[in-house]
Amino acid sequence: MTKVPFVDLIREYKEISKEVNQKISGVLRRQHFILGNELENFEKELADYLGVKYVAGVGSGTDGLIISLKALGIGKNDEVIVPVNSYVATAIAVIEVGATPIFVDVDKDTYQLDLEEVYKKITRKTKVIIPVHLYGSSCDMNALVKIAKRNKLVIVEDSCQAHGAAFKGKKLGSFGGLGVFSFYPSKNLGSYGDAGAICTNNYDLYERIKKIRNYGQTKKYYHDELGINSRLDEIQAAVLRVKLKYLDDWNIRRREWAELYKEKLVNFKTQKIEKYVVSNYYLFVVEVENRELLMNSLSQKGIQTLIHYPIPIHLQKCFGYLHYKNGDFPIAEMLSKKTLSLPMFPHLTEKEVLYVCRGMQ
Ligand SMILES: *Cc1c(COP(=O)(O)O)cnc(C)c1O
Repeated sequence: MTKVPFVDLIREYKEISKEVNQKISGVLRRQHFILGNELENFEKELADYLGVKYVAGVGSGTDGLIISLKALGIGKNDEVIVPVNSYVATAIAVIEVGATPIFVDVDKDTYQLDLEEVYKKITRKTKVIIPVHLYGSSCDMNALVKIAKRNKLVIVEDSCQAHGAAFKGKKLGSFGGLGVFSFYPSKNLGSYGDAGAICTNNYDLYERIKKIRNYGQTKKYYHDELGINSRLDEIQAAVLRVKLKYLDDWNIRRREWAELYKEKLVNFKTQKIEKYVVSNYYLFVVEVENRELLMNSLSQKGIQTLIHYPIPIHLQKCFGYLHYKNGDFPIAEMLSKKTLSLPMFPHLTEKEVLYVCRGMQ
């Protein structure tokens, strides 16, 4: 029997069900489902929230990464730098546009992109760096922006885990040329299906992105360039408009649970969050020895835990043809063996968090 679930979206739904049901009914009454007012308003509201000029809704976070690279004209013979400790979607997007992912290791304490490694991997073919704001934290974005500028590279922030998180007071996603968000249901800002968005301050890129997400069409039935079909639909946009109002409050609650975990789990190494970062604690991750044993014993106590991620990207079977091997990225490989994600969502109770902490002793 489950005593503490890893995530429980039903509790969140109970808090907002009246508002969300009303908004969805509104869309159903109007029967306008694609590229309408809900999306337009959501895009404006998210742009305001992030402090950027433009936001374009797309079909998912993965599509957001693919469309970003396409909008930048990235393709064959181009190299894109990607951290090896991330969700596999980051690397898939690079492959999807025909470019080569250049993997780099992460920092052993923050788990973020190792900037010295990035520096070493830059070649004449490098066009883009994709920092992944893992678990809702970030690397030194000012330093990364400097590296990118000096080498004339574009930063595409994979902010799919970083809704509302900030570096030196500036929202993650708003640093690079482009910032990509996923609204997969269990993300800090989640829709009721697949959805994503790209934000930017560059008008030309914004216009290009809007074309690409809609079959490359400039006006109906006129297609100037090759696009795809990847749009954020009206029902999802309506849900996201409601939830965006709660995001800051929900992130504060996550932070409180994270602080309580840290206070009680002093014997465990947890992700280091630099002073100038405000994490949104998409995940709360501890390093443990004998992970399997501990997971089993927690499971017997009714505590659900997960692993993010059990296999680093370079060792995934699907990338075998790139010929990376065990030992290439020692930090990511170590983390893949040691990290354990504990229950983390705003609607946890203090009793539940304390029960997890006791289960860990
Ligand atoms: C969730 C996630 C994605 C993919 O987003 P989808 O909306 O599921 O396509 C990409 N990168 C990271 C780091 C993610 O966490």
